[in-house]
Amino acid sequence: MRKLLFKSLVQGPLTEPAPAPSEAALAELAARVHEISRRRLGRSLSIREVDAGSCNGCELEIHALNNILYDLERFGLRFVASPRHADVLLVTGPVTANMREALERTYRATPDPEWVVAVGDCARDGGVFSGSYACVGGVSAVLPVDLHIPGCPPSPTALLRGLIALLESTA
Ligand code: SF4
Repeated sequence: MRKLLFKSLVQGPLTEPAPAPSEAALAELAARVHEISRRRLGRSLSIREVDAGSCNGCELEIHALNNILYDLERFGLRFVASPRHADVLLVTGPVTANMREALERTYRATPDPEWVVAVGDCARDGGVFSGSYACVGGVSAVLPVDLHIPGCPPSPTALLRGLIALLESTA
């Protein structure tokens, strides 16, 4: 035990340091999302995240948008607890058979324009879980998808670029 304690004191962390986000690029992207959403909606963009069966890798990147490095709420983007308050559904993972109905009900509860963004490779076609008896496929197998953001998982910057593309393409 003493050996282990000593080793942990001298060894240092084994994890890699997080890449430093470019503050200027991030501020520009977030300000752009905010500006377009104000033009389109007259207010900030509200996002509801739905995990339809992901491995949680995509969630870690989505949650990063709210952490102290990115802190996107300062630019007006908000994650909301209810689909009734959301403009966009960010859906991750392959859609599992157990989550299908919940996803459909979430979509029905979302007011217009109810944009759906499929996040990650699994959300496109099931990804590594494709063909599993427990999955019904990608998000488009259940809902009309407005945009797909590729990646396994996509980075927070890729997520922001995707939201800009969504707002611009639906303008
Ligand atoms: S795309 Fe990758 S990170 Fe996202 S749910 Fe699938 S396996 Fe996990």
